[in-house]
Amino acid sequence: MNRLITDAIVLRRSEWRDYDRMVTLLTPQGRIDAVARGCRRPRSPLLAAAEPFTAGEYALFQGGGRFTVEQFRATDTFYPLREDYERLTHGAYWLRLAEMQAMPDQPSEELFALLLRALAHLAYSGLNASMLTMAFELHYLAILGLSPVMDSCVRCGAPVEGNAWFDAAGGGVVCEKCRRALPDISNGARRIMLRVPRTRFDAVKHLEGHADAPMAARFTRQFLLQRMEFAPNLAPDIVFPVEMT
Ligand SMILES: [Zn+2]
Repeated sequence: MNRLITDAIVLRRSEWRDYDRMVTLLTPQGRIDAVARGCRRPRSPLLAAAEPFTAGEYALFQGGGRFTVEQFRATDTFYPLREDYERLTHGAYWLRLAEMQAMPDQPSEELFALLLRALAHLAYSGLNASMLTMAFELHYLAILGLSPVMDSCVRCGAPVEGNAWFDAAGGGVVCEKCRRALPDISNGARRIMLRVPRTRFDAVKHLEGHADAPMAARFTRQFLLQRMEFAPNLAPDIVFPVEMT
């Protein structure tokens, strides 16, 4: 018998018996699946504790091989996401990416902090959702140690500056000598993919309106789909305002 008090974000919920729900939580200590008993009853204090995107402090009881939510205090529900279908789709995709990596008893402080920060931007900032998703994907890949190589040729190792070519399957950029039937990548898009994972998530605001952001978003998505076993139809479309393309 154990009690655990932890910050958490709800990644997923499913129905469990008549009035209960099972929730998948991302915590700084890793993934925890817990039962929220009675949360489907009217006026249950645990109702919000079992809603995807909800962030809060959870008091969990561990017994009989299972976690149960005992108490809960919301810190943020990111409510505006629920009223904007496009942004909700992006957020749901981030939850899925987080769920794919979160394991029980495997600390995930960085992933937890990234998701919390990124959801705040998605819910409250008004920044372009596709751009936020690109930043999320690049930070996510960096946390997994899977960043694309953007400053040297993945085939010969030569330093790459300026415009280059992109080999999603090969792991990054390719120099002029090694390029063969590959799409070219602008210097601006290459630098976005190089620098975003090395800066704070909040720096994403400086990319708003950047002419190379759409190209960087497309190559980032292509790269991520190569690296992860993730069905492409679960990923949201990349949409930027027309004047930026
Ligand atoms: Zn080369």
